[in-house]
Amino acid sequence: MKIFGKVRHRPSASWRQATDRAFTLIGDGRYDDAGALLTRAADMEPWLSESWFNLALLHKFRHDWEQARAAGLRAVALLDRSPGAPDWWNVGIAATALQDWPLARRAWQAYGLKVPGGGVAQSEPSGMALGSAAVRLSPEGEAEVVWGRRLDPARIEVLSIPLPSSGRRWGEVVLHDGVPHGERTTAAGPSYPVFDEIELWAPSPVPTWVVLLEAATEADRDALERLAADAGFAAEDWSSSVRLLCRTCSESSMPSDEGDGEHLDPHDHSEPGHPGPLGHRTAGSGSLWVPERECGIAAPAALVRGLLDGWVADSPDTREWRDLEEVC
Ligand SMILES: [Zn+2]
Repeated sequence: MKIFGKVRHRPSASWRQATDRAFTLIGDGRYDDAGALLTRAADMEPWLSESWFNLALLHKFRHDWEQARAAGLRAVALLDRSPGAPDWWNVGIAATALQDWPLARRAWQAYGLKVPGGGVAQSEPSGMALGSAAVRLSPEGEAEVVWGRRLDPARIEVLSIPLPSSGRRWGEVVLHDGVPHGERTTAAGPSYPVFDEIELWAPSPVPTWVVLLEAATEADRDALERLAADAGFAAEDWSSSVRLLCRTCSESSMPSDEGDGEHLDPHDHSEPGHPGPLGHRTAGSGSLWVPERECGIAAPAALVRGLLDGWVADSPDTREWRDLEEVC
């Protein structure tokens, strides 16, 4: 082992064997056994960045963020080159999970991203202007793809109203992985990545309600969504905004309507199989407006009835609501 000089260090065959075996075990969910092998591999090749990268990855899978940060820092210390290195991205995720903001900033910068506000290095990254993206909640379970606003490279604030079955809420902040699984394209041109959630980063205090609306026209429905948004909360017409996609389609490139720039419909709810050659229903398909709508509302209990009553009062002949129920 030369400390100086240009000799590229190649890992031994036993390092490769232990590492390959560890990733097979990770695939089977046997994290403890994989951890023992990857620790042994790191003992064999402590000067190899990959040894620590792999350990950091394992700790990320286990959501053991202290260990992920420690292993990740050893990995990046041994890198030849920082920009574009996934090692730094994973350090950024671990630092974000731990709210270690100086390290998170350092990680994104080392990766090659601009992080505004150098004078406030202790504060969480903001103003990175990463725009909208979709995030797949509970990717291992009953997955649901929702829209949100990217706060930084590892966090999204959820701006769709997740369905009751998800057990999740509007306004949650989600920690997500760096490599997208799927994208959503728009007719206007831009496409948006679909990231996989790693874990809930911050819960939302705002409950979800379901209500049945009678809305004579699309404009009546839009008026409720606008009223809720103006009050600082949200309403979402699930009857038109949710579509079912199989996992394969969800993880591929799918068209999506462009909403108001912040909130892009539809969001996707997983279903087991692909429905034959005609494919999945697209949002807004079927041109006939159906007045009865199943609508999600994210608003405090003290506000939700007043919001609905106000909506009806603005146009009593074309609007009605019933069966309001708190669902999450
Ligand atoms: Zn499909």
